[in-house]
Amino acid sequence: MGDLIASNADKIVDSLLQSIKLIAEYEDSKDVKPYTNIVHDICDVELKYGNHKKSLTNAQQCVTLETFDNTYRASTNQNTNPKNCKRFKDFNSNVTNLLNREQQEHLDDSINEQLLQDVALHRIDPFTKRPMRNPVRNSVCKHVYDKDSVKGVLKVNAQTRCPVVGCSSKQYIQMNQLVEDKELRRKLEKVAASEDPLED
Ligand SMILES: [Zn+2]
Repeated sequence: MGDLIASNADKIVDSLLQSIKLIAEYEDSKDVKPYTNIVHDICDVELKYGNHKKSLTNAQQCVTLETFDNTYRASTNQNTNPKNCKRFKDFNSNVTNLLNREQQEHLDDSINEQLLQDVALHRIDPFTKRPMRNPVRNSVCKHVYDKDSVKGVLKVNAQTRCPVVGCSSKQYIQMNQLVEDKELRRKLEKVAASEDPLED
């Protein structure tokens, strides 16, 4: 009987955790209280059953009805808070983990979106209109070009201004004012690596 209660309780708690997984993933309001209440009640039943069983064993050794009664009652009143049950505590920590994990995954998603946006804005070289491989930043106007492409353009015409539409700098581009943008390069590589090579 006790095993049956425990194994049924295992099954119920498992399926409640599955529901909470879905809530964490899809629901906007993360109200898990009704589920926690169910587990609380299950723990209560288990606790009471366990206590009665233990009390009966203890009381069986009593020879008079009165001592039987007293011993039985004294043992049943021990340890009656379901919140102290291992099952209840495990359930709560599982719920916390599930909700936190989901939050963390959302955070990772938004970081990736941010990365893709950054890269989408900066990946194309303004001279060749092709994806940059080695981005360099003009320290005068902060615009970015591909190193090889700006080098090639300056070789042909040393008096080249920043080609970015709306750029306020009227100066000619100087190679010594271009700084390698390692962070952007890392981002470009990261996005390129995550893209399907067949799409290129
Ligand atoms: Zn510029």
